[in-house]
Amino acid sequence: MPTTAKAYRPRKIASAKKSQQRVADQQFYDSKEWLRCRKAFLQEHPLCQRCDAVGNVRPAKDVHHKIPKKHRPDLALDPSNLEALCKSCHSRGEGQLRRKVRAERIVVTGTTGSGKTTYVNQRRRRGDVVWDWDAVLETLTGQQKHEQPRRDMISALTAMRDTLLVELLYVKRKAWVIASNKETARGIANVIGARMVDCDTRLTGGPKKSC
Ligand SMILES: [Zn+2]
Repeated sequence: MPTTAKAYRPRKIASAKKSQQRVADQQFYDSKEWLRCRKAFLQEHPLCQRCDAVGNVRPAKDVHHKIPKKHRPDLALDPSNLEALCKSCHSRGEGQLRRKVRAERIVVTGTTGSGKTTYVNQRRRRGDVVWDWDAVLETLTGQQKHEQPRRDMISALTAMRDTLLVELLYVKRKAWVIASNKETARGIANVIGARMVDCDTRLTGGPKKSC
């Protein structure tokens, strides 16, 4: 059930900004860095990955950004955000083959101990999707929050999370993402069209843990 809170919507960009964006895009796609990255990726993935997944063999011609560059420019050259596609899969890619669905999505942020997990656990319903870094790490490794070392899993978990976030755009389920870092939280909210709950500031004057 949708709640009374408004979902986050990216602001409309003025057309001047759009044409600036197009110029910036072209500069990116012409850049040496991208051309080198693209070439290396296609050498490593000569077949269309979507066709391959259903048993068809087609040469890959395009390199697709799973999370669009405009949402995560920092991942523009990151192989974990790239997909090798044939022309047909690429042109079908966004919109037609898989349609994005509207669903309530909430990113919960706040410093350590601000009650993010509690906030989500008190509100989640059966069937909701919850991304909780600590819980996923515990599932994968059996290690709990306070145990070290955990840093070696950061890039694997980040890749899992980002893949999940993109896939969530096509899933009609309420989704919760817990993210301590506020900048990361805002970026995620942008990508999945989520509203944000900040457990540090949610209750003015109230006790922090009652978030
Ligand atoms: Zn294909």
